[in-house]
Amino acid sequence: MTSTRALATPSPSAPFGATTIERRALRDDDILIDIAYAGICHSDIHQAREEWGTASFPMVPGHEIAGTVAEVGAAVTRHAVGDRVGIGCLVDSCGECEQCKNGEEQFCERGAVGTYNSRGYDGEETMGGYSRQVVVSERFALRIPEGIGLDEAAPLLCAGITTWTPLRRWGAGPGRSVAVVGLGGLGHMAVKLAAAMGADVTVLSRSSAKQDDATQLGATDYLATGDDGVLESAKGRFDLVVNTVSASLPINDYLATLKPMGVLANVGIPGEAWTVSPGSLVGGSKVLAGSNIGGIPATQEMLDFCGQHGIGASVEVISADQVDQAYDRVVEGDVRYRFVIDVATIPAE
Ligand code: NAP
Ligand code: ZN
Repeated sequence: MTSTRALATPSPSAPFGATTIERRALRDDDILIDIAYAGICHSDIHQAREEWGTASFPMVPGHEIAGTVAEVGAAVTRHAVGDRVGIGCLVDSCGECEQCKNGEEQFCERGAVGTYNSRGYDGEETMGGYSRQVVVSERFALRIPEGIGLDEAAPLLCAGITTWTPLRRWGAGPGRSVAVVGLGGLGHMAVKLAAAMGADVTVLSRSSAKQDDATQLGATDYLATGDDGVLESAKGRFDLVVNTVSASLPINDYLATLKPMGVLANVGIPGEAWTVSPGSLVGGSKVLAGSNIGGIPATQEMLDFCGQHGIGASVEVISADQVDQAYDRVVEGDVRYRFVIDVATIPAE
């Protein structure tokens, strides 16, 4: 076992505090990672605040992890000490079912093991990346290409792969008009990736506050959806709308911005429902789709693409004592565009 320092919250309404947790002794296929940075995903907030239902406490969130390999188990072949690696939302899956064999481990028929707020096949609660070290099977560690800093790499492990998957599945590329709804952690990655794929990207954000940033990120157009009549004026414009909003939306109005046969791919997971009127789908033979992170092979493909295109997340690096404030700022939409925790600032005992 390895003792390591971590940031934990004891209950849905309590602040984070430093604590010591145990990481398991290395199994033959495990690696020990010295974490450098951990991103703050809105899913961390949904879970730590029990917006998705009962969660497990104390909770150490964090599924956007970047660091360096510190030790390897006896049978490890994919990674060596000193390698720069990342861990995303998954730390185990059965490896034998149809979904795992297809590299879609997130859909494992036995149930994939989440990086935190989950239980390993050994029955132990999993603890995430707001921590100095983590032990994980080498199958779930991704190579981080040279040229991407570990701070800007961490958010690729969730925000990157979660937006990559629907953009690839629904054909973002030259000649296709893609709208990204919500310019936060996922949204800003969707803009960077879709622009690098060659699509025409429009950002739909609540106000005009992020307009200059959107242009910098690669968008060619921008709509402030809080202004009267703006959504109306965008009727029938987009081939693909990627919705990253963490709250409920008037989804019929967004479906109306699609061209006939267009696709609204939803990745946001608010705790509340939306109302979809059948006519808003049937009228233009539209598709309303969901998309859940991505498997390990696709995550590596996304990271390699980011390496080739010089893409990292746009981050604000924070220290351990700023996490509670960062959560409030994310909820307010006040992050440019992902907070990452420098885990070296988690106080020693
Ligand atoms: P985030 O950084 O908070 O970004 C969400 C954005 O949504 C905000 O920046 C804001 O953009 C917009 N927004 C927030 N509240 C809104 C409201 N009341 N009305 C309209 N727009 C609002 O969050 P994130 O980390 O990108 O995560 C986004 C969502 O995706 C979360 O629900 C998260 O749980 C989910 N998620 C899903 C997956 C998956 O596998 N599908 C993976 C990771 C995360 P503007 O200020 O530009 O309007
Ligand atoms: Zn996430």
